[in-house]
Amino acid sequence: MHELSICQSMMKIVDSTMEQHPGAKLQKIFLEIGKGATIEPILLRDAFAIVSSGGPYEGTELVIDEIPIVGRCRDCGESFRYEEIAFGCPGCGSRSVSIESGLELNIKQLEIDEGNEEKVT
Ligand SMILES: [Zn+2]
Repeated sequence: MHELSICQSMMKIVDSTMEQHPGAKLQKIFLEIGKGATIEPILLRDAFAIVSSGGPYEGTELVIDEIPIVGRCRDCGESFRYEEIAFGCPGCGSRSVSIESGLELNIKQLEIDEGNEEKVT
């Protein structure tokens, strides 16, 4: 279950942000997870429940946004859905394509008490 180690490195980032807000309560963590990142949102929630149990982040909600995999043609610049990559670029037929998004795990935003929002990225 590699979600546990992902969760622990995520918490280090959260910790360093929360250090700047002493006494504040973390309400929500907004995450973006690419569908190609091989992270199961359900397992990540389970891992977070384990990591946060008994600590200051117990009860904090994970809000997970799944990002589709998007490819881009290196020849003509057309972008398209991952499901189409196997057939090459739908615009020019080129097989030279790169993955534009969908592999990432981003902490997009933290919501802490008093309604404050802290941008991480
Ligand atoms: Zn193309």
